[in-house]
Amino acid sequence: MELTTEIKIRKTSHSRIREVDFANLQFGKHISDHMLICDYYDGEWHEPLIVPFANLSLSPATMAFHYGQTVFEGMKAFLTEDGRVNIFRIDKHYDRFVRSLERMCMAVVPKEIFVEGLRTLVALDKSWIPRQPDCALYIRPFVIATEKGFGVKVSSEYRFIIFTSPVPSVYSKAITLKVETEFIRAARGGTGFAKCGGNYGGAFYPTLLARQQGYDQVIWTDAVQNKFIEESGMMNIMFVIGDTIITPPLSDTILDGVTRDSLLTIARTLGVKTEERPVSVVELEKAFRDNTIVEAFGVGTAAVIAPVKTINIYDTDFHLPEYSHENLSHKLKQKLERIRTGKEEDLYNWSHVV
Ligand SMILES: *Cc1c(COP(=O)(O)O)cnc(C)c1O
Repeated sequence: MELTTEIKIRKTSHSRIREVDFANLQFGKHISDHMLICDYYDGEWHEPLIVPFANLSLSPATMAFHYGQTVFEGMKAFLTEDGRVNIFRIDKHYDRFVRSLERMCMAVVPKEIFVEGLRTLVALDKSWIPRQPDCALYIRPFVIATEKGFGVKVSSEYRFIIFTSPVPSVYSKAITLKVETEFIRAARGGTGFAKCGGNYGGAFYPTLLARQQGYDQVIWTDAVQNKFIEESGMMNIMFVIGDTIITPPLSDTILDGVTRDSLLTIARTLGVKTEERPVSVVELEKAFRDNTIVEAFGVGTAAVIAPVKTINIYDTDFHLPEYSHENLSHKLKQKLERIRTGKEEDLYNWSHVV
């Protein structure tokens, strides 16, 4: 459908914003006053609507509950220095959303509804955007299959929803990782590149086992030989070996992270050497033994950068120097934050200012 008029808004009569302690935000706890809802049926998307955030009423036979047709995005909006709202890299998130939806055989949300929906929703709940440094408004657009019926098939109905939430920066503490060589997250030809719910569901159990052994997350390895590093938990992973940032190349088993791309781009602009190439577990182990590895960090929208302090490789713990503001990862993160909040010029056209 074409959006010919502005998105209709039904405003809440009582804002919940006073319940939020903005000085002590917790990730995922508070949800802003409004959400956008848009339904697909009879072969088309219908008019989007912004309504007060509330529970949904769905039949237990709703397909999303049974066969995993669920896809989401995770993005952030920031307040700029001059008080405007910046939705970060809306185009790149949209393109990935489309790739995920197509892989899961789901109806693709038109770009206009995605962009206008985000703009209108975020502008309406602007007061929910935290002002504290490193905090942001997290945005969760997602689509679920809503056809009622438990016969196994592709759903013919979908619901697109967007809600937002004020969030702190997570992972301020350095994390510990275990290289996982038994379980896998994604295999060639599978859904690893898509942001679909099932990828997360399947990752919880190996992560739970790693937690029981004292690690925060696993480092996933390839599904064929368990020899090459892929991602860390639900983040992309980067290593600084010598003076070079090294990260595994994109493939259908590695999610095309917006943070990954942004940090690589900033690094290149700064003249830092970057390599996107396969990193074997053996190479990583050798880098520890030779003392050439100086940093490792997970990268993703939620944490931006999660510094790593320990990596367990084949049952041996290897330790990294303590995270400091001298770290390359810290400098890249600072630069990214400055671009997002308008303190520094956006050379890349990443900002979508509302
Ligand atoms: C979302 C996600 C990431 C990070 O992507 P960003 O766009 O940087 O947030 C990395 N890996 C997986 C598996 C993810 O789901």
